Amino acid sequence: MHIKHILALSALLLLSQTNVAQNPKKSNSVEIYNQIEKLNFLGSALYIAAHPDDENTRLISFLSNEVKARTVYLSLTRGDGGQNLIGTQLRELLGVIRTQELIEARKIDGGEQFFSRANDFGFSKNPTETLEIWDKEKVLADVIWAIRKFQPDIIINRFDHRSPGTTHGHHTAASMLSVESFKLASNPSIFPEQLQYVKPWQAKRQFFNTSWWFYGTIEKFNAADKTNLIALETGVYYADLGKSNQEIAALSRSRHQSQGFGSTGARGEETEYLEFINGDPLTEKKSLFEGIDTSWNRVKGGKNIGILLTKIAAEFNHNDPSRSIPDLAKAYSMIQALDEDHWKPLKSAEIAEIIAQCAGLYLEAVAQNQEATPGSILKLKLEAINRSAAVMQLSTVITLPESKKTVQNLNLKTNSTNTINLDLKLAESLNYTQPYYLKDNATVGMYTVNDQENIGLADIIREVKVVFNIKVNEIEIPYERAVIYKYNDDVKGEVYNYLDIVPAITTSIIEKVLLFKDTKSKTVAVKIKAGKDGVKGNLKLELPKNWNVSPKLIPFDITKKGTEQIVSFDVTPPSKADEAVAKSVAIIGDQQFDKEQIFINYEHITKQQVLQSAEAKLIKTDLKTNGERIAYIMGAGDEVPASLTQLGYALTILTPAEITPQKLQNFDVVMTGVRAYNTVSALAFKQDILFDFVKSGKTMIVQYNTAGDLVTDRIAPFPLKLSRDRVTEEDAQVRFLAPNHPVLNYPNKITSNDFEGWKQEQGLYYPSVYDKAFTAVLSSNDKGESPKNGALLIAPYGKGHYVYTGLSFFRELPEGVTGAYKLLSNIISLQSTQNSVAQ
Ligand SMILES: [Zn+2]
Repeated sequence: MHIKHILALSALLLLSQTNVAQNPKKSNSVEIYNQIEKLNFLGSALYIAAHPDDENTRLISFLSNEVKARTVYLSLTRGDGGQNLIGTQLRELLGVIRTQELIEARKIDGGEQFFSRANDFGFSKNPTETLEIWDKEKVLADVIWAIRKFQPDIIINRFDHRSPGTTHGHHTAASMLSVESFKLASNPSIFPEQLQYVKPWQAKRQFFNTSWWFYGTIEKFNAADKTNLIALETGVYYADLGKSNQEIAALSRSRHQSQGFGSTGARGEETEYLEFINGDPLTEKKSLFEGIDTSWNRVKGGKNIGILLTKIAAEFNHNDPSRSIPDLAKAYSMIQALDEDHWKPLKSAEIAEIIAQCAGLYLEAVAQNQEATPGSILKLKLEAINRSAAVMQLSTVITLPESKKTVQNLNLKTNSTNTINLDLKLAESLNYTQPYYLKDNATVGMYTVNDQENIGLADIIREVKVVFNIKVNEIEIPYERAVIYKYNDDVKGEVYNYLDIVPAITTSIIEKVLLFKDTKSKTVAVKIKAGKDGVKGNLKLELPKNWNVSPKLIPFDITKKGTEQIVSFDVTPPSKADEAVAKSVAIIGDQQFDKEQIFINYEHITKQQVLQSAEAKLIKTDLKTNGERIAYIMGAGDEVPASLTQLGYALTILTPAEITPQKLQNFDVVMTGVRAYNTVSALAFKQDILFDFVKSGKTMIVQYNTAGDLVTDRIAPFPLKLSRDRVTEEDAQVRFLAPNHPVLNYPNKITSNDFEGWKQEQGLYYPSVYDKAFTAVLSSNDKGESPKNGALLIAPYGKGHYVYTGLSFFRELPEGVTGAYKLLSNIISLQSTQNSVAQ
C-alpha cells in the first residue's frame, strides 16, 4: 500500500455508523484528505452482477479506498424476488428496500450504485430462461448504457459467464451480457439512440472475480492453472481509518438487513483473484489498471491540475483543512476551463464538496412539513454557515425545478448563522415523490423507464431542490441541496427526512384481499388521507357490474392536512365464483385521485414514499372451512395471519414464551410462519411441547425454512432433511401422488385448476430426504428437472398430524390466489376431516 501523509488521529470517530441514513454528510479531516487523494486518480471500475448482495464488498472497498478508483456496482436487478427478513414487504416494495440498502452500503465502502431495468422475477435456474423473461435487448442496452456513461477502464464480473446452470440464472446472464457488451459498447451503430447523451466506449480489459468457490473445493483451486489469474492483496489496513479493508466491507455488507446478511469483518492478509477474460492482457500483473494512465494527463490540459492537487495533498493541514481552500478553489476554476465532458463534471462536483467540507460549510433547505402538494406554497427555511476563516459569500439562491433565482450577496462571516426564509410556489405539474421506475407499469421481467437519462439511476429523483451559489475567492461554486424536513425525536434525536410531494388525497382499501364465501354483503373499509388542508369531494369504489356496491358515492370533507378518515362501502358479490379488482377513487371537482400512499420506514435506510394504485382483490368462492382455532408463530414476517383471518378463522399470534401446554389447549392447529426455524431461536426448546400437542390429536403446520441455519436439528417428530429443491416455474404441472389423501378432497376438492394463477414460484427449500412416516402428496418440477416431491409432506403422529410444506403460501395468499386458500384450508382441516370420518 502506498504511504499516506497522515497524522495520528486515532481519537476521531471514523466512518461513523449512524442509523439515521439521511443525515447530511459532515466529513472529518481524514475523510477530507482521502477525498483529496481521490481527486488525483482518474480511473474507474465497473463491477457487474445481478442482485443486491451479489457484490464483493471487499473488492469494491479495495478499489475505492486503496486504489482510489471510481467504483460503480451495476446490479441488474433490485432484488424484488427475494425474501424479506425484516418485514412483510415483497416484490417491488422489497426492491425499494434493497435499493436503499445498496445505496447505504456504497456510502460505507465508497462505491457508487447503478441498476438496469431488469426485474428480479424470482429464482431462475439457467440464463436461457432468464433472458426469455427479461427483455434481453433492453437489458443489454442498459449494460452498454452503464459502460458508456461511466467509461470504466476495467469491468469486473462477479460470476462466470461460461457455466450456465451452476448458479442462479440471473447471475450467469449478468456476466454473459457483460461479456457481450465489452466490445459492443464501443460500436456507434449499436443503440445509437444513446449517443445523444453518451459516447461509445471501449474498456481496456475485463475480469471475472473468481475464488475457490467457483472451482468446487480449495484443493481443486490450489491445483488449478493460474496463468490467467491476477492475485490482489486486499487485506489492507487503513491506519488513518483504523479499520481493515475487510472490516469496512463487512460494515457495508451488513446494510443488507432485509436479507439477514449481517457480516463480521476479518483482519489480516487476504487475496482476491481475478481472471483476465477480455481486452489488453496484463504483463506485470501488479495492478488491474496496468498500462492505463490514471493521472490528470489523460485529460487534455489536465496536467497542471494534477500538479496542483498533489501540492494540496502534500500541504494538507489536518488541524485546519480550510487552509487548502484557496488552492482547491483555484483547481476548481482550472477544471472549469477544460474542454472535456466526462471527468470535468465529475471532478467539479467532488472538489466543490471537498471545499465545503474543508470550510465546515453547512447548507440546508428545510420545509415546514414532511409533505406538500403540487400547486401549494412551500415555506422554506435556508441555513448557510461557514465555519472557517475562508472568505465566502452567498451570491444567489436558485430554487428548482423552476430555476427561480434570488440575489442574496450575503457575506458568510466565520461561524455566524445565516437564515433565509423563502416562499416557494410549487408547480401544478410537479411529479409526486416515488421511485421513478415504479411510475409506469412493469412487466414480469422489466421495469418501464422511458426517459433514457433516468435509466439505471439508483435513487428516487427529488425535484424540489435549492442551489446555493457560493463565491470562494471570487470563484462561484454551485451547491445543490434537496429540500428536507427534520424534527427532534425524544429518543432518536434529530431525524432527517426528505420532503415528499404527495397527491391532495390518497386512499387505501384496508383489506387487500377480501373473500366472500356466500352471497352475503361485506363491509369494505377505505382509509382517506388528506395531503393538504380543506379537501372536499366524493369517494367511489369501482367494481365490475356483477358486484353490487352501496352507496355509489361517499362524500368527504377533511379540513386538516395529514388527517385520516375511514369510510365503508357495502359490497355484495355475484352468486357464482368470481374474482374482481376493486379500485378506490377520490373525486375532487374534475380531478380523480386513485393512489395509495405507502411508506417504507426502517432505521437503516432513507424513508421512502411509494404510490401504488389504490386497489384490492375481491374473491367470491365456494371454498369451505371448518372453523379451526389457529395459533400462529411468526418467523421472519409474512401476511399469512391476515389472510387466514379473511377466511374467517379465529387466529392468535403466539410469542415463543406463550408456547405452553396450557395455552395450546385453546387451539386446534399450530402454524409456524416463514423461516420461523431460522429466526426464532427459542423454538429449539419448544419442540417437545409442540410435538406433544400434535400427539394429543392436533395439527402442526410448518412453512418453509432454509436449510443452512436452522435453530434445531429436530424440526419434525420424524427425520426430515431440507434441501435447496424448489419449483420456480409457477405454472409447472402439479401431479397428485396421493390423490385419495383427505388433504386433496376435504372439505374442498382440489384439482389441477387450483394450481393456476400462482405467482412467482410454487415453493422452495423442499425436504429431499424424509422418513417413511411422511406421505408426499404433490409432485412437480421445473422444465428439464427431475420430479420434486417434497412440497407437501404429511405424517400422522400420535392422534394428530404433522405437516411440512415448502409451498409459497406467503406469496400466494396476499395475491388472492384462490387455489392456495383452498389447499391451505384442507391442510388446516386434516384433523376435523379425520374426526368426522371416525364418527
Ligand atoms: Zn444473486
